[in-house]
Amino acid sequence: MALKVFCDFDGTITLKDTTDEILSRFAGKEWESVEKDWLDGRFGSEECLRRQMRLVRADKKSIDSLIESIEIDPHFAEFVNLCGERQVPIYVVSDGFEYVINYVLNRGGFGQLEHYANTLIFQRDCVDTAFTNSKPDCDTCATCKVGLMNRLSGPGDTAIVIGDGFSDHYIAECADIVFAKKKLKKHCESNGIGFHPFETFKDVNRKMKEIIQSQEDGFESKGKRKERICSGIGALKAR
Ligand SMILES: [Mg+2]
Ligand SMILES: [Zn+2]
Repeated sequence: MALKVFCDFDGTITLKDTTDEILSRFAGKEWESVEKDWLDGRFGSEECLRRQMRLVRADKKSIDSLIESIEIDPHFAEFVNLCGERQVPIYVVSDGFEYVINYVLNRGGFGQLEHYANTLIFQRDCVDTAFTNSKPDCDTCATCKVGLMNRLSGPGDTAIVIGDGFSDHYIAECADIVFAKKKLKKHCESNGIGFHPFETFKDVNRKMKEIIQSQEDGFESKGKRKERICSGIGALKAR
């Protein structure tokens, strides 16, 4: 049995959501109504991002300077060290963009972290998108975090999910251990999903040390794990 961490990027590792920042700065108001339609379930996040990013009017230089201002949680480095020392892999799973994640993680000295996200393609003064981590039986996600978790961990592993938003709902429902803040915290509360609340990685680190210790002492924390197809309601089946 091994611990495996599946960690969201925007608003979890970073203090702000980069995609929202790019849209607020460069896309004009229309992106918000697309966002609302997505939250209302009219289409999945792939369609949402495709429509929203099409509204962006900016060149690479302007987007780079915005990304430059995105800060990482000051306690994330300690988390990476903690997991590294105890051989706990961290997979960064994001419904944001690979380019942004690479940029920010490299700048912070975390370029070694394995990450999965959507593709941003720069044109002269606008951007295009591509989606290589979607899953055929999921019509909800752009990068399907549940699909990645099922691929990167087995039934014997203890999957730990850390997240803050709508794109973490489904993976949190399938995880063994959840760390949640903001929208994800509300979702867990209203759906009876057990979770550890956090504001910064300082809270995560404190609890994570206990989890690693109890796993090393031989206490099994698995058993909640569910297979899930992340579209619509239901479709939960015990593994
Ligand atoms: Mg997020
Ligand atoms: Zn999915």
